[in-house]
Amino acid sequence: MRCAQMLLVTLREDPAEAEIISHKLLLRAGYIRRVSPGIYVYLPLLWRVLQKIMHIVRTEMDAAGAQECLLPQLQPASLWQESGRWDTYTQGEGIMFTLTDRQQRELGLGPTHEEVITDVARNLIRSYRQLPLNLYQIQTKFRDEIRPRFGLMRGREFIMKDAYSFDADEAGMRASYEKMYRAYCRIFERCGLDYRPVQADSGAIGGSGSQEFMILAQAGEDEVLYTPDGQYAANVEKAISLAPEATPSAFTKPERKFTPNTPTITTLCEALNCSPTHTVKNLLYQAILDTGLMILVLVSIRGDQEVNEVKLSNEITRLAPQFQAQQVLKLTIANQENQKQWAEQDLPWGYIAPNLPDDYLKTDPQIHPKFLRLYDQTVVDLRNFATGANEVDYHWVGANWGQEFPAVMTVVDVRKAQAGDRAVHDPQQILHSARGIEVGHIFQLGTKYSEKMGATFTNEQGQEVPLVMGCYGLGVSRLAQAAIEQSHDEYGIIWSPPIAPYLVIISIPNMQEPQQVEVAEKLYQELQNAGIEVLLDDRPERAGVKFKDADLLGIPYRIVPGRSLAQNKVEIITRKGRISQEILVSDVVDFFRSLNP
Ligand code: ATP
Ligand code: MG
Repeated sequence: MRCAQMLLVTLREDPAEAEIISHKLLLRAGYIRRVSPGIYVYLPLLWRVLQKIMHIVRTEMDAAGAQECLLPQLQPASLWQESGRWDTYTQGEGIMFTLTDRQQRELGLGPTHEEVITDVARNLIRSYRQLPLNLYQIQTKFRDEIRPRFGLMRGREFIMKDAYSFDADEAGMRASYEKMYRAYCRIFERCGLDYRPVQADSGAIGGSGSQEFMILAQAGEDEVLYTPDGQYAANVEKAISLAPEATPSAFTKPERKFTPNTPTITTLCEALNCSPTHTVKNLLYQAILDTGLMILVLVSIRGDQEVNEVKLSNEITRLAPQFQAQQVLKLTIANQENQKQWAEQDLPWGYIAPNLPDDYLKTDPQIHPKFLRLYDQTVVDLRNFATGANEVDYHWVGANWGQEFPAVMTVVDVRKAQAGDRAVHDPQQILHSARGIEVGHIFQLGTKYSEKMGATFTNEQGQEVPLVMGCYGLGVSRLAQAAIEQSHDEYGIIWSPPIAPYLVIISIPNMQEPQQVEVAEKLYQELQNAGIEVLLDDRPERAGVKFKDADLLGIPYRIVPGRSLAQNKVEIITRKGRISQEILVSDVVDFFRSLNP
């Protein structure tokens, strides 16, 4: 391709809309253009990168025995109602774009495709003889993200590869999952990325287990906790750990104490001269269930620990059948500002006890009349602890379960694991924290969708049983940007050759020099003939501008037919490290052939 004929518009200044380096570089180098928040044009250079990534993904999926197909993006609400996900995806913080057609039928724009594929499976898979089966597609997904940001990292329209496996039993599903796991590892390796698989929360997709593939980078939105022995790595949303030991309590007898101006654990511990590990903190959350019911959840947790809201939401979803519901649609912390929605009177904020009376709650059919009281593991064994006394400026000290407070009932793990905690598999191992960009997420779904949607088959014993499924997502457009986040320098992008838009750029320093132009044109032809992807910068620009652009674009190799032409040589600069060498013009094609990217 000749640069003079290309839509090549580079910017010298950092665009104001971009916060992270990879986003800035994509805009500055002319790879993308924003049309509206989270909606981007993939300009020709980026499209080439995306095609390369998709090619790698396709070859690995095909090699793993998956078959490519293309599913519809317009999906009828009825399918999502069958799986029970229509409300989750359209109400509360739901991220599905929806529309109504001229017959007043509701439709959604596909954020993911479990429903559609399960519909295909229930119609076409009849017998165990058709299994295992794995179908994948590469397609634009739509999600009305609450905070679209960081360019392609969190778009509202983005490219995803999604695959779905069908097996006769759990063991088969695990084997299919393993195959996908290995295919993912190969994909990220081939793209030249430094990645890490981690245990993950399964979120709204559901199922029994899942792993995410993280590209480690400081700008990542996810936090990963891992141990140096390599035995454990998990998204902080999912991570478990051992809480630090509680120090022995300073309190010996139960006493209701006047503790003015101590609404936080810090102020309380200062006033009482005790460790936060002797305290029980009681936090209130409002949970809206899929039936519209609001439940006020009172979580008691050791004072030095934080609540992991993902774990909490999962626990409430697990308990939802008690309330004739299936899941949590929205979970928010309750506070002085929003108490009017559900409280009869002002709560003793900052001084709440585990036995906060239920009569604080309004009588309203949409509000559950009792607090759901959850006890985090960290409070179960506490003795002689301090906690609120349900009255402003008062605390209990030296309190015990089954005495000053009722015995603990529903024990849960909703504690946020953090760096510095001891690992569960080996308490000698300490958790460390890193930031990551999630580029892939693979799930063991089991029969969640097949049961709900009646996707069954006849097994070898002649019984009609639900298909056992897995699903496997990979963010193609996010991956392209994550690669830049991981590989750039002060001059611009540094593509790894397998995903670079072009392998080589020939930058002609001076278009007025016939010899430079002649050698460049000759190499341009020869390289193309050899199947090497090459750009020819034949624009009537100064050499400095062209070199800067070549660095900014991140093309792995730059050929400069300049001064060294006197010795029949050209300069070849490797973008990574900007290492320069001179090579005989006649050796250039062989040089690139031998790289074999
Ligand atoms: P996140 O937690 O980042 O929102 P997710 O859990 O919603 O991701 P999945 O539903 O598992 O993501 O989607 C599969 C893959 O699609 C993700 O691993 C990610 O690489 C990509 N992806 C998800 N949402 C977006 C988005 N808004 N923009 C770009 N890529 C995305
Ligand atoms: Mg998401």
